[in-house]
Amino acid sequence: MWKYFGASATAMILPITKFGNPVLRKKGVPLERFDKSTVSLISDMLETMFAARGIGLAAQQIGEPLQLAIVYAADKKSNVTVDGINIAPDKVMPIILINPLITTSGEEYGYEEGCLSLKGIFSNVSRPKHIKMVTYWNPITRQPKRTVVEAEGLTGRAILHEADHLNGILFTDHLSTEQRNKIAKVVIERKLKSEEYEQTI
Ligand SMILES: [Zn+2]
Repeated sequence: MWKYFGASATAMILPITKFGNPVLRKKGVPLERFDKSTVSLISDMLETMFAARGIGLAAQQIGEPLQLAIVYAADKKSNVTVDGINIAPDKVMPIILINPLITTSGEEYGYEEGCLSLKGIFSNVSRPKHIKMVTYWNPITRQPKRTVVEAEGLTGRAILHEADHLNGILFTDHLSTEQRNKIAKVVIERKLKSEEYEQTI
């Protein structure tokens, strides 16, 4: 699946940064080259994302503020084009965001979103229907090359969610105060529980 990176045998599952960690608020630094260390980093990110059963992961979530994220969202209802050619979503995964430039169009619609940095919490987030992204990765040839990816559906939404991470934006930033307060309450309760747990062992 992601073996073409050539580093899957040595890929590591990395710890995922949690909400509240300042690195999640850092804007990513653009990648200046694509070399062996980039391949190794992407392999580790894929391994980490699959282990956590996510559909996307940004470098900030493994503690690296870079303009680098991965998406593996291959539902059949998504429309995906690569350099203007329509392609089945499962043929182009993973999509890799490298120094992405994104424009959006179409009406906004709501969908339940979650985040590997805030596991188990989902909230309805409104995002535009259509996305157009310039990235430095061609998901068909699987080479680091300037490519235009357009997407709708879950694939497009996952790309927008990950692109937000690269700018230090979290999905909770799109929510109403009421929605945010609900999440804050759950997070506080979890923290209290974990403290209780630590005290009892
Ligand atoms: Zn996220």
